[in-house]
Amino acid sequence: PRPAIAWIGLGIMGSPMSENLVKAGYDVTGFTLEQDKLDRLTAAGGTAAGSIAEAVRDADVVITMVPASPQVEAIAYGPDGILENARSGALLIDMSSITPQTSVDLAAAARDKGIRVLDAPVSGGEAGAVEAVLSIMVGGEQADFDRARPIFEALGRTVVLCGPHGSGQTVKAANQLIVAVNIQACAEAVVFLEKSGVDLRAALDVLNGGLAGSTVLTRKKDNFLQRDFRPGFRIDLHHKDMGIVTDAARNVGAALPVGVVVAQLVASLRAQGDGGLDHSALLRAVERLSGA
Ligand code: NAD
Repeated sequence: PRPAIAWIGLGIMGSPMSENLVKAGYDVTGFTLEQDKLDRLTAAGGTAAGSIAEAVRDADVVITMVPASPQVEAIAYGPDGILENARSGALLIDMSSITPQTSVDLAAAARDKGIRVLDAPVSGGEAGAVEAVLSIMVGGEQADFDRARPIFEALGRTVVLCGPHGSGQTVKAANQLIVAVNIQACAEAVVFLEKSGVDLRAALDVLNGGLAGSTVLTRKKDNFLQRDFRPGFRIDLHHKDMGIVTDAARNVGAALPVGVVVAQLVASLRAQGDGGLDHSALLRAVERLSGA
């Protein structure tokens, strides 16, 4: 029989991901803060729980997909949390993007309860979640990875064990650095092309066919063309991730001369009240600098 799954955090990513597990034949019991998201899971064939304790009590595998380290700590620790209420022998897979150290600490705390842990953050965005083609970067032990593999394969296409606890988060931090710098480069090109009077759609199409092409350009082209900044991936979350990667890089003595500048531009969007927009809104930061 397939393992019983508890899913905590049914947001932009968690909703479609948990529904993909239902479609793959798993029993999924969910808990999240918004009632409409719980209703959505029930409509898809899952079960809604009234608390974390209720969701995880009978689960073989507990999956968390919440915004950041403080939320992971809030749902893992404490009398109503996962560690107190999940069965000994359960596997906790945290798919949120958080600091590598939080993942290391969680694995150590869970070990005392007989609970196994994997950090398994993802890349691919909302579209990748809906289409079950995410890239999943995993930290933890081989035996736990092998146990989780069928679940990962129902959610994504590229699934890699990167190393011990925290390694998945370190790779995800690098992913967020690359994505932010890539969006920034595209945004600068968009403003430059428009001010030059070139047809933007034609320019982006031909650029995407050459070495300048990227998944970012493919996925974000319409956001740029239509100035459609509905999330997607919120600036607030990318701000969190730029903090994670700059801290982690400083800890190991790696320089991020371009990354820290892009982190500042992401922070400037938040300061202007644009934290709820998609990260393609870096275009707005470049437009402001350009007087556009
Ligand atoms: P979101 O804000 O849409 O969803 C977060 C969910 O967590 C919400 O449903 C909320 O109810 C739930 N939550 C928060 N605190 C909770 C608590 N104490 N108990 C129970 N539920 C709680 O965020 P998202 O976009 O789905 O992102 C989730 C994670 O995935 C983040 O770490 C993000 O960085 C990462 N991520 C997002 C994307 C993307 O494109 N959106 C892509 C890859 C990775």
